[in-house]
Order: sequence, then C-alpha cells, then structure tokens
Amino acid sequence: MSDAEKGEGGRFGWLSGRRKRSIEEVILMLLCTLSIPSILPFGIYRLVQRNWLSAAVDMALVLAMLAVIVHVWRTGRHRVASFCVTLAYSAGMLVTVYLRGVSLVYWVYPTMIACYFVLRPGVAVAINSGSLVGLVAILAPQLEVLNLMTIVVTVGLVNLFAYIFSHRTGEQNKALHTEVELDFLTGVGNRRSLDRKLADHADERRPHLASCLLLLDLDHFKQVNDRYGHAAGDRALVRLCEVMRLHTRATDRLFRYGGEEFAIIANGAALLAASRLAENLRAAVASTCLIDGHPLTISIGVAAMDKRTAPADWLMQADKMLYAAKQGGRNAVRVADAVAPSDYAQGA
Ligand code: GH3
Ligand code: MG
Ligand code: MG
Repeated sequence: MSDAEKGEGGRFGWLSGRRKRSIEEVILMLLCTLSIPSILPFGIYRLVQRNWLSAAVDMALVLAMLAVIVHVWRTGRHRVASFCVTLAYSAGMLVTVYLRGVSLVYWVYPTMIACYFVLRPGVAVAINSGSLVGLVAILAPQLEVLNLMTIVVTVGLVNLFAYIFSHRTGEQNKALHTEVELDFLTGVGNRRSLDRKLADHADERRPHLASCLLLLDLDHFKQVNDRYGHAAGDRALVRLCEVMRLHTRATDRLFRYGGEEFAIIANGAALLAASRLAENLRAAVASTCLIDGHPLTISIGVAAMDKRTAPADWLMQADKMLYAAKQGGRNAVRVADAVAPSDYAQGA
C-alpha cells in the first residue's frame, strides 16, 4: 500500500461521492411524473366544462404528485410516500368513478397495477381489495349483476396476475441479491456489500448509536500458500470466518474486503467496545489452529464510523491503523483516536 493510495480520494475515493438514489425512489418519482401529464389534461378539460368537483379531484391529485416528487427528491424517503401515493390514487379513482359513472371504470386497471410497482405485493393486494369493495358499492346501484360481475372478475384477475408477477420478481431479486452480495468462498459479505452497508450507514438520517469499523489482515499469509498450497490457504480463510462469527455479536456485520483482508462493522459499538472486540478476536485467532502445524495471527485496525465524515475516511482511518499494527510487529490491534472533521480537512 503506497502513501499515494492512502491520500485524499485515493484507495477509498469512490465512497466519498454523492448518495446513489435507490430504484424504489426512482420508480416512485417516475410514476408521479408520468401521472401528471395523464391527469392534468382531464383536470383542465373539466375546468373548461365548469365541472368543478371533478376538476378539483384531478388538480388535487396533480398537486399531491408534485409534492411527492419534491419530497422524495429532497429527502430520499419513499416508503411512507409510496403508501400515500397509492392511497391517493385509489381514493381519486373511486371518487372519479363515483362522480362520472361507470364510463371511467377503465382507470381502475392502471391505478391498481401501479400499486404493485411501489408497494410490497401483500400491501398492494390489500389496498386494491379495499378499493374493489368500494367500487362494487359505487357501481352496484347503476349496473346489472352480469356487468358488475364482469368488472369484479376482470379486476380480480388483473390483481391476481400482478400479484403473482410482483411476488415472483421479488423472490428472484432476493436470491440475486444474496448471490451478488456474498463472498463465494467464506459466505461473509463481499466488497460490494461492504461498500453498500457503509454508504447506508452514512445516509442513515435517524440518530443512532456509535459504530466502528475493523479491518483485519492475516499476517504472513503468503507463506501458508507457498508452504501448504492454495487449497489449505482457502480452508484457513474459511476457518478464520468461523472464528470471526463466533466472537462477534449477531448485529455485527462481516465482510471479505479482498484476498486475506476482512472487515467488520461493529454496530452500536463505541471505540472502547470495538477495541475490546478486536483484542478478543486477535487473541482468539492466535490461540486457534487455522491450519495444522502453522500458527497464524491477524492484525487489526479500528476506526470510529463518525457520521461527520465520509465512509472513505472511516476506511482510510482503519487502514492506517492496520498499517500501524503491521509496522508494530503484527499480531496486534491499533485503534484510531476520535478525529474531528477539521483534522481530516487539514490532512491529518
Ligand atoms: P502481511 O503480514 O504483510 O499481510 O503479509 P501477507 O503475506 O499476508 O501479505 P501479502 O499481501 O504479501 O500476501 C497476501 C497473500 O494472500 C497472497 C495471496 O496468495 C493470498 N491470498 C489472497 N487471496 C487468497 C485466496 O482467496 N485464497 C488463498 N489461499 N490465498 C489468498
Ligand atoms: Mg496479510
Ligand atoms: Mg493483505
């Protein structure tokens, strides 16, 4: 590791960038954006026709969509907004059918399908079932039983297909996520999931307990490969992860940072607790037989995940401490002092 790598924006520079918007945020904003040109012309038409109530419903929906776009754009919070949008959509659709009659029943189908784009399938189906009951109550006095049944059955089928599709896609996404985010050899999180967790941690807006980042590196691991072969080295890496799992709490997160380097996010642990964890881990590895007939040790660098600084700074601090532990003779733990943000700016 060169000094240049350790400088500002060097090895960890990619983590100091702006927050990436989640796909859920983008879908919600897109949905709201698309619904404005879909509803606004009807609102204007109703205004021209002096159909004040229908116009008010359309315009209220357009304003609500605009408010949601601004809110999600500025805060990134999409869960409650998604729920509110679908409720507003569903209520607007029912009021429109109530005011304008069965000729506007075509709006029911896209409105219900939109629910599955922004909500979990179970929640979407619950909201749409409620809407269907409301729809039947509105249309029952106006329609013959056969026509009403046709609407109920087609709405039911559209929901059934949308639910199956949405559920299946969700399951596939979950499986894909697991594949993409786990290290194939050891089963702990991979580098991608570490980056994501660190970014999530930095984005977390709610106040929460202090957390720390530990970077671990096996000492003189190259000798193991050279002496016992790569397969034996692999087994030692797997064994090390078992020891790490055994000596960390369920809330701690383990990652393979690359090669024979690992990272731990000690959630809710301040520097003192994290340094104790690191020391326990170091001692546990030193007293465990990771590979027969060859004592193996680890060095650990610990840094606080101070929300006033960027994830790249946390990694850089932990990496500096790991480097110090190696320089100090290995089989050691080094803990970063809590550093004020101004110190980073001065290149401390
Ligand atoms: P130091 O104490 O300075 O960290 O020395 P080291 O020998 O551990 O470090 P070095 O960077 O020189 O070597 C790292 C070794 O880790 C070299 C590489 O063969 C081994 N390694 C990296 N990834 C894997 C892997 O997936 N399996 C195995 N078996 N070995 C790996
Ligand atoms: Mg090493
Ligand atoms: Mg290394």
